[in-house]
Amino acid sequence: MIIVLKAGVTEKEIQAVITEIEKQDYKTHVMHGVERTVIGAIGDERTHRNLESLITWEQVEQVMRVQKRYKLVSREAQPKSSVVPVREVPIGGKKIQIMAGPCSVESESQLMETAHAVKEAGATILRGGAFKPRTSPYEFQGLGEEGLKLLAKARDETGLPIVTELLSQDHAEMIAEYADILQIGTRNAHNFQLLIAAAKTGKPVLIKRGLSMKIEEWLLAGEYILSNRNPNLMFCERGIRTFETYTRNTIDLAAVAAVKSESHCPVVVDPSQGVGRSDLVIAVSKAAIAIGADALLIEVHPNPAEAWSDGAQQVDLNGFKKLMDEIRPFIAAAGRE
Ligand code: PEP
Ligand code: MN
Repeated sequence: MIIVLKAGVTEKEIQAVITEIEKQDYKTHVMHGVERTVIGAIGDERTHRNLESLITWEQVEQVMRVQKRYKLVSREAQPKSSVVPVREVPIGGKKIQIMAGPCSVESESQLMETAHAVKEAGATILRGGAFKPRTSPYEFQGLGEEGLKLLAKARDETGLPIVTELLSQDHAEMIAEYADILQIGTRNAHNFQLLIAAAKTGKPVLIKRGLSMKIEEWLLAGEYILSNRNPNLMFCERGIRTFETYTRNTIDLAAVAAVKSESHCPVVVDPSQGVGRSDLVIAVSKAAIAIGADALLIEVHPNPAEAWSDGAQQVDLNGFKKLMDEIRPFIAAAGRE
């Protein structure tokens, strides 16, 4: 860390800061400028005590970190991109994986029809919510375990691994019994106990970006998975909240490039929650691939007008086929399969 002292401090005041830093097991390097003294505290900031509270000292003007706060998710820890194995489907390799399915599992016929259609069109993972994080308690909350059973049945029929949301620590074991990827939703991206519980199931974890989460906070959320000995982590950009209301959220595609460069973990893009309107989903999917996404998460419903959740943003079965056709040249141009 770098500690900048105020102009005109006395030698005694400088010495007091040095003594405190060395007490915390850092080595010090003191630079005397014309007006100011700057002290470098040398040591691993992530394992030593944080020196940020030195800012409360009268003689201290500024305390700055040198190292990043995350380590295991970073490319410094692992330069090579990781590939997350989801049954037979590798996420983060050359092949772009398409996760598709309804926002919510509503019935056996709705799920099976969708699962077969998305598989036929080229999807490699089936999505579907059984426990839904709804803003209002009066809205459909999901079929619960019944929905998980239907997802497992759809996997048996189609061979597609499944991704579904984990809403509560209480459900971690149950969901892990059925799911191949645990999705942590945007509203829970800051729920650290839930992140730990998800990590401990040992299943691959997909962390959606929180509604107002900075990239650094998102990477730190991922750090909770890797530091709890689960190497199988994916980040998912799904739009953040801004002043713009034309789209449901503002999808931040620059964050995809940023996280790909900071972290070795695969990055998924969810254009459906990202824009909230089905007419923009294909365009954003193309852009996501162009900027380096490793997978897409697309909401698909046989009859979006009658969907029990997120009807406006779900593409229908033909719309999904069209999406798969239209993204193909972008996948090739990105040097992917
Ligand atoms: C979803 O995938 O249906 C969902 C609720 O996602 P998010 O947490 O991104 O809103
Ligand atoms: Mn949804």
